[in-house]
Amino acid sequence: MAVTDTLFEAARAAMARAYAPYSKFPVGAAILAEDGRVYEGANIENLAFPQGWCAECTAIGAMVMAGAKRIVEIGVIAEKMAFCPPCGGCRQKILEFASPDTRIHLYDAAGTARTMTMDELLPFSFQTDTIDRG
Ligand SMILES: [Zn+2]
Repeated sequence: MAVTDTLFEAARAAMARAYAPYSKFPVGAAILAEDGRVYEGANIENLAFPQGWCAECTAIGAMVMAGAKRIVEIGVIAEKMAFCPPCGGCRQKILEFASPDTRIHLYDAAGTARTMTMDELLPFSFQTDTIDRG
């Protein structure tokens, strides 16, 4: 199975476990990490809205807690939106564990992927060399 198909299936399975009673906008994410494992995440909302978090955050948390630190590829899917892009905050969070050429796959319900690189998703980003200039 191609990596994009594996990430699609994992992200879709994660989306089914989303806790999104307020937005009713379930999102799933799946990361292929450097250790060869796939880490899943879904959005988890809270009545106090700012306390909820995105699917990408859950997947990153699962990856880090398992001991992996590098995202090889990541896939995202939303039930109600084809090719749902990560929000601005998640772009920065993904970048923390990614490279400019890391591939991000945005899926539609059929598993078709719209793929872009980290650099395309977050150009002119805030990176280590940005804060090393001090
Ligand atoms: Zn987000």
